[in-house]
Amino acid sequence: MRNKWVKASLVIVAAVIVVTAAAFQISKSRTFQFFGEIVPRVNMRQKVVALTFDDGPTPGVTEEVLSILNEAGVKATFFVIGAELERNPEEGRKIVAAGHELGNHSYSHKRMVLKTPSFIESEIERTDQLIRQAGYQSTIHFRPPYGKKLILLPYFLARTSRKTITWDVEPDSYPEIAADSNKIVAHVMEKTKPGSIILLHVMGRSESLKAVKGVIAGLKGQGYSFKTVSEMLAMTD
Ligand SMILES: [Zn+2]
Repeated sequence: MRNKWVKASLVIVAAVIVVTAAAFQISKSRTFQFFGEIVPRVNMRQKVVALTFDDGPTPGVTEEVLSILNEAGVKATFFVIGAELERNPEEGRKIVAAGHELGNHSYSHKRMVLKTPSFIESEIERTDQLIRQAGYQSTIHFRPPYGKKLILLPYFLARTSRKTITWDVEPDSYPEIAADSNKIVAHVMEKTKPGSIILLHVMGRSESLKAVKGVIAGLKGQGYSFKTVSEMLAMTD
């Protein structure tokens, strides 16, 4: 009798471990979520890519990035944090005025798993409002902080017809590469393909910022042109 209970408990413990491990893997997947559309790259043959910058907008850095993009004639997509945009509204307006895309990267940049529906809704709606106040008028896409999502976040995004935009090129995720702007450029050159969405953390990481010029020059050299995420999505619609 006792043996039976021990066996049953072991089976339950094992099942819990398997389900938890699966949920963890799914929560950080760049290419799968339970509800709605997730876009890690756009399926196309043309040599087009989207540069995306997460976090901020940070005073000083924003101007520097904008000037690099302006010189290169490149339009990019900035996934900004609501709280930062609230603190630095002028930077948001500058990004919009220069013709770039603003995306929603939540209000407080917390992992949006195991959170209440009202928390998720307020994080997204508040940030959308701030993005509108910065003057951005087109569709606002969402990128989850740390790429984390499980059930309630995708459910809310799907219910409100918002797309989840992730990425397929992420040099900053490898500490050894992230520490050296030359390695970041090399990694991007190696991994990028037509329709790629490239993620760089220019607002908070100096090596990432330093790599932008090299990434643009290198990809241009390979015949790539640059679009915002929405422009690239529109090419396949
Ligand atoms: Zn982020």
